[in-house]
Amino acid sequence: MKTTKMKSKVFISIVSLLLVGVFMIPLAGCTADNTAKESKANTSAADKAKADGIDYMVLVNKTNKLPDDWEKKLETVTFTNSVKDRVEVEKKAYDAYLKLKADLEKDGVKVDLDSARRSVKEQQRIMDDFTKEYGADYAAKTVAKPGYSEHHTGLALDLYLIVDGKDITENEDMIKYTDIWDTIHSKLADYGFILRYLDGKEHITGYGYEPWHIRYIDDVNKAKVITDKGITFEEYLGKAKSADLKIDYGKSKIYSKEDLEDAVIQLKCQFANYEGSVLKNIRYAGDKVFTNKNLKWINKKDPEAKYTQVVEFFTDFHTPKDTKGTTLEPDHEYKDYQWWLARTEDDGWQVVSFGY
Ligand SMILES: [Zn+2]
Repeated sequence: MKTTKMKSKVFISIVSLLLVGVFMIPLAGCTADNTAKESKANTSAADKAKADGIDYMVLVNKTNKLPDDWEKKLETVTFTNSVKDRVEVEKKAYDAYLKLKADLEKDGVKVDLDSARRSVKEQQRIMDDFTKEYGADYAAKTVAKPGYSEHHTGLALDLYLIVDGKDITENEDMIKYTDIWDTIHSKLADYGFILRYLDGKEHITGYGYEPWHIRYIDDVNKAKVITDKGITFEEYLGKAKSADLKIDYGKSKIYSKEDLEDAVIQLKCQFANYEGSVLKNIRYAGDKVFTNKNLKWINKKDPEAKYTQVVEFFTDFHTPKDTKGTTLEPDHEYKDYQWWLARTEDDGWQVVSFGY
């Protein structure tokens, strides 16, 4: 953690303190949408498959749940990957993946599948285990809510790389191979896949950039349109509108630009819960909010966390005509809506409070 040389500008915006919302976060920020290593789903649902099939254009994200009859209709195949994990994939997605993999090998790029499908039941079991072990708050922050992970569909695939015969499976290692990912991404649409979690679109997808998470949509033409336009699946389906988002990081003597960018990504992941809202501006509130008083206040909201740093951002956004399921007013222009994030010595930024 960075040491802070803070000038004591003791000005506290009492107004903003009073106005800050009291909502605690319902969901984690940018928790990766991958399936845990302990997940060894091997209950093939092929025998339960139905003739009418699944909707390959289904949207499952933090605000759109897996259809109830999905798992009954789903046909999957299960195989063992190079690190000896069992992986379950929707049937057609698997065929398309094998073609993509063969094509990539011609270019000297080797990939395998880290994880694909996880059942809702399995996700619930993990949620229950985490709740028992660490409490409900921690579980809600760490584990994707059962029913709301794209991995339930069997159509979301997490790739990993094999470079010089070595399996590269950790996210922080994989992300460094930008040239390899460029090659992979350039071929996705040819096989009906799209890249799902785009860099900079966290406020729409709810996830940070994941070059390895691809999604099968069973339509090469649609995949090409989505890829060529550089839009998210949500935007293609009309669930989100693109706006020219402006981010003002201000001038901080406490935090580096990278620190503030990390915080903004967490904020944006949380914002994705406001489905259909158009985010226009994000502004750093300034170093003046990093006070002992604010630190005490933020620690009271989450007594176990032991936060050592706190930041505030303002946002401007417009809500859609339908905001049911949220506390937001419909078709409303929100100005200076506040987001408070904090971090501990060891962990990244978390949204702790937001609102007016
Ligand atoms: Zn994933």
